[in-house]
Amino acid sequence: MEKNSLKGLLVWGMLIAVFTFGINLVTRGLYNNMTKGYNATEFQRELEAGIIRNVEIQQNAEVPTGVVRVALTNGTQKAFFTSDVNEIEGILQNYSGDEAVSYSVADVKRKSLLEELLPSIILGLIVLAVLAVLVTSRSSGAGANKMMNFGKSRARLTMQDENKMGFKDVAGLAEEKAELEEVVDFLRNPKKYVALGARIPKGIILVGPPGTGKTLMAKAVAGEASVPFFSISGSDFVEMYVGVGASRVRDLFAEAKKNAPCIIFIDEIDAVARVRGSGMGGGHDEREQTLNQMLVEMDGFSVNEGIIVLAATNRVDILDPAILRPVRFDRQIAVNGPDVKGREEILQVHTKNKPLAEDVDLHEIARTTAGFVGADLENLMNEAAILAAKENRSYVMKQDIDKAFIKVGIGTEKRSRHVSERDRKITAYHEAGHAILFHLLPDIGPVYTVSIIPTGVGAGGYTMPLPERDDMFTTRGQMLQEIQAGLGGRIAEEMIFGDYTTGASQDIKTVTKQARAMVMKYGMSERLGLINYESQSHDDIYGGRDSSRTALSQNTTMVIDEEVKRIVDECYAKARDILEANVDVMHRIVEELMEKERIDQKEFEAIFSR
Ligand code: ADP
Ligand code: MG
Ligand code: ZN
Repeated sequence: MEKNSLKGLLVWGMLIAVFTFGINLVTRGLYNNMTKGYNATEFQRELEAGIIRNVEIQQNAEVPTGVVRVALTNGTQKAFFTSDVNEIEGILQNYSGDEAVSYSVADVKRKSLLEELLPSIILGLIVLAVLAVLVTSRSSGAGANKMMNFGKSRARLTMQDENKMGFKDVAGLAEEKAELEEVVDFLRNPKKYVALGARIPKGIILVGPPGTGKTLMAKAVAGEASVPFFSISGSDFVEMYVGVGASRVRDLFAEAKKNAPCIIFIDEIDAVARVRGSGMGGGHDEREQTLNQMLVEMDGFSVNEGIIVLAATNRVDILDPAILRPVRFDRQIAVNGPDVKGREEILQVHTKNKPLAEDVDLHEIARTTAGFVGADLENLMNEAAILAAKENRSYVMKQDIDKAFIKVGIGTEKRSRHVSERDRKITAYHEAGHAILFHLLPDIGPVYTVSIIPTGVGAGGYTMPLPERDDMFTTRGQMLQEIQAGLGGRIAEEMIFGDYTTGASQDIKTVTKQARAMVMKYGMSERLGLINYESQSHDDIYGGRDSSRTALSQNTTMVIDEEVKRIVDECYAKARDILEANVDVMHRIVEELMEKERIDQKEFEAIFSR
C-alpha cells in the first residue's frame, strides 16, 4: 500500500513537470518580451503625451488579435498583446498630436510547420512514455486496487447546499417546468407518495436540440428539491479499457444510493445508449456493456427509493428501445427552442446582472432573434457585455448588441480588410438585390440590416432579414419567396453589369437545397406527388453504411432534376421582374450603401418612400 502511493506520487510529479514544461514551450514564443502592465489604455496615454516614435503591429492571421511593439522617443521598447488590432489602428488613426508617429501593420510571421509542431511532438512522446510506465506497472500485478480507482465513476457531485440553481434560472419552458414540478415534490417528500402507493417515474429523458436548456433544467430540478446532483456525460463512459464504463455505472449508482434522495443526470445519453449491435468495429462492445449495466442498475433499485435518473439527448430516435421501456426511462419531456416570449424571458435572465442603457429593448431583440436558443442568447448578451467593457463603459448599449448579433450570427466584421471600389460596388448591388426582394415579397422579411462590410466567413457583405413571426411551419409560398430573394443578388449583378461574379455561389447552393427539399421532402411538386424521395441515410446508426437506401429509378431522378430546375427558373423570372421594376430604388440603395457601408431597417425603408 505504502509503496503504491509513493509510486502514484511519482507519476503525478512527472506529469505535472511534463505539463509545465510543455505549456512553457508552447506559450514562450507567443508572450515573451511583453511589457508588464502595458496595455491599450496606457499606450493611448503615451501616444497623446507625444512620447511614442514608432509603432509596429503584428496581426495574427484571420483573427484581429496581435502584438503591438512600441518604440518611445527615449529609445525604450515596449510591447503588449491586443485582442483587437482594429482598436489600436483606430487609436493611431485618431491621433492628432504634433509629434510624427510612424506605424506599420504586418501579419505575424508563421513559423515553419516543424517549428510549430516540435513542442507538441516532444510533449506527446513524453506523455506516451509516462502512460506506458503506468500501464506496465498495472499489468505487472501492482494494482488491482488502482484499476478500481480508475473505474470509480467520474461523475461530478454537487451537494444540495452548493447548488443555487432553481426554476427561476430557467426562463420560458413553463410546461416543461410544470411536468418536473411533481418530481421535485417527490424528492422533497417521498413518503407522501409512497404512502399512497403512487409510482413516480425512475427515469425521465429530456429531448431537444443543443442549447435549449436541458442541462440547466436538470440542475434546477435538483436545486429546487435541494437534493444532491450527480452528473456525468455519456461520452465520459466511453473508455479505452473494456469494463471500465460498466464499473463506472456501478459506482455511480452505488454512490447515489448512499445519497438518496438524489438526482443522477446523464447528459448526452445517446453516446452510450444507441441501438445495440449497431456500432462498427472497435469500441462498441464496451458501449454495450456500459448500457447493459445501466439497464441492470435501473431495474435494480426499487421504484420509490428516492433516486431519479434524468437524461438528456437531442436524438431520441437513435436510442436503444430497451432503455425507453416502462420503469426505465418511460417518460420523455420535449425541450424545444423558445418562441418570442420565451426569448424575451431568457434575455431577462441573462441581463439580470448586466446594466443596460436606455436604448436597449429586450422585446425587440427577442423579435430579431427567431431561431436562437437559450445558449445563443446567453452568448449574444455575453459578447455584447465584452464589447461594452472593451470601450470602458459600465453598461451595455444597443450598438453593442447589434455588433454582437453580427458576430454571433455572421462572423466579425472586418473593417480593416481592404476592398477595392469595384468589389464594393458589386457587393452593394448584390445585397441591394436580396434586400429589395426581402422587403417587397409579402411573406418574408422585413430587412433588418444591409451591409457591404466584409465578414469573417468570406462574404463581401450581408443582408439580414428579420423573421417577424415564429411560425412553426413554412408555407410553400414562403419557400418560393425565399428562393426568389436568394436569387436576388445574382440577378442584380446581371442586370447592372451584364455579367456576374463568383460571389453568388453560396446563394445558389442554398437556393438549390431549398428547391430540392420542396420536391423531395415536402411533396410540393405536383408531378412527383406526396412522396418522400430522400434516401434514408442511417449514418449515425450504421456508421456510414447505408442499408435502406430508397433506390430511385432513373426516370424519377430525371423528373426530380427537372422539377428542381423548373422551380428555380420560375422564381428567377419572378424575381427579375420585381427587380427590373425597382431599378431606381436599387441605385439609391447602392448609393447609400457605398456611403454608409451599413444601413438599418429605418434607413432602408426610407429609401423606398423617397
Ligand atoms: P443543453 O443542455 O440543452 O444543450 P444547456 O442547458 O447546457 O443546454 O444551456 C446552455 C446555456 O444556455 C445555459 O447554461 C444557459 O446559460 C443558457 N440557457 C439555455 N436555455 C435557457 C433557458 N431556458 N433559460 C435561461 N438560460 C438558458
Ligand atoms: Mg447540455
Ligand atoms: Zn448573396
